[in-house]
Amino acid sequence: MSKSSVIVVGGGIVGVMTALTLQRRGESVTLIDRWEPGHSRASSTDYNRVIRAISGRDEFYTRWARESRLRWLELQAESGQNLMYECGALILAAGGHSDWEDATAETFDRVGVPYYKFGQQDIESRFPQFCVPDIEYALFEPEAGMLMAHRCVLTGLSLFRQAGGKVQRGRVTTDGSERPMMDGNPLEADLIVIATGPWMADMFPRTIKPISTVVGVNVLYTSTPDGSEEFDMTRMPCWIDHGQGSFGLPSSEGSGVKAAVVIPDKIDLDNDERLIRQETLGRTRSYIRHRLPGLEGQRVVDSKFNQIILTPDTHFIVDWHPEHENVLFAGGCSGHLFKHAPVFAEFAAGVGLKDFGTADRFKVSGRKKLSPKESPSGR
Ligand SMILES: Cc1cc2nc3c(=O)[nH]c(=O)nc-3n(C[C@H](O)[C@H](O)[C@H](O)COP(=O)(O)OP(=O)(O)OC[C@H]3O[C@@H](n4cnc5c(N)ncnc54)[C@H](O)[C@@H]3O)c2cc1C
Repeated sequence: MSKSSVIVVGGGIVGVMTALTLQRRGESVTLIDRWEPGHSRASSTDYNRVIRAISGRDEFYTRWARESRLRWLELQAESGQNLMYECGALILAAGGHSDWEDATAETFDRVGVPYYKFGQQDIESRFPQFCVPDIEYALFEPEAGMLMAHRCVLTGLSLFRQAGGKVQRGRVTTDGSERPMMDGNPLEADLIVIATGPWMADMFPRTIKPISTVVGVNVLYTSTPDGSEEFDMTRMPCWIDHGQGSFGLPSSEGSGVKAAVVIPDKIDLDNDERLIRQETLGRTRSYIRHRLPGLEGQRVVDSKFNQIILTPDTHFIVDWHPEHENVLFAGGCSGHLFKHAPVFAEFAAGVGLKDFGTADRFKVSGRKKLSPKESPSGR
């Protein structure tokens, strides 16, 4: 196949990894972003993200996460950067509300993902940071952990440049037919990949907006007790606490313990300052008192307010624009795409180069809301 010209719009983790994959496949790729890749408005930008195979009954994402884990480890070895820390992940199953956790254990058995099932006492003796009177059991996935998100974006970008890819600053808009434009002219390329994350909805008001909701998420970083390593990633895993609408990560590289109580918030992507909302402070602090009492009295040392784009079924989007045959959407993160980025990028690149068609779950059409039990994210 002759070398084609490819434009990837959006330099978050999806755009960067897709651009890298296409460039390494011998295409001539230009990556365009409005701002400097790694900037603080993007969904991909924070210190870290959880990588876990835990996906309820969804075997597809379970397998993708396992495969992605290997790819991240390869990228880590290749780049010499600390991209991933294998601190494990714990999902806490609340008494009487454990459909998603039960389904995860069944999927793990089928796929062969290593895990432990802990009762209440085991949890508190293995991970004494957690106080779990309301928890029936927990699943611990030891090969899960965290990805250093900002570093992953920058490392991917650097590998893309080393492979000969071009990076350009600019804002892509769309005309009335949703054709991508820049500086008043249509974008010209054999393939245009749209990886603009949550901005995709407003850019494509007819195609993407009807299947998406953009919500803001507040996360706080809390200091660890003076002189104690108890809450470091060497001792504590990432965790998911659906019963409390929360998740978190242990302290890594001095970050403090990250905890989010997910209260979907409105966000104006371009105009809102990325300052957390005061109301979330009280909610997160009372969550910490309840679940991580050893952190009581500790201080918020950092915070992050950014956003996710949610599809009705929380499946990603990889599909062609219905009218512009060279325009491919790649995104629809639904709060769980970061970890999958290397495999997602390979898939999107394969669809873009017509190696294969997309999967039904990733099509723009036919979306419907799933129950939390069916949903890969448990939402
Ligand atoms: C609080 C929080 C916690 C999360 N936790 C996890 C987790 O633990 N594990 C996990 O796997 N995932 C997690 N996610 C989801 C994950 O972060 C996202 O799935 C992922 O970062 C999405 O990346 P993206 O490249 O699609 O979007 P983005 O990172 O937002 O990138 C989009 C890029 O497009 C650019 N752009 C936008 N419009 C234009 C335009 N018109 N022209 C040019 N460029 C443009 C933007 O500047 C931006 O750089 C979390 C998300 C949030 C917010």
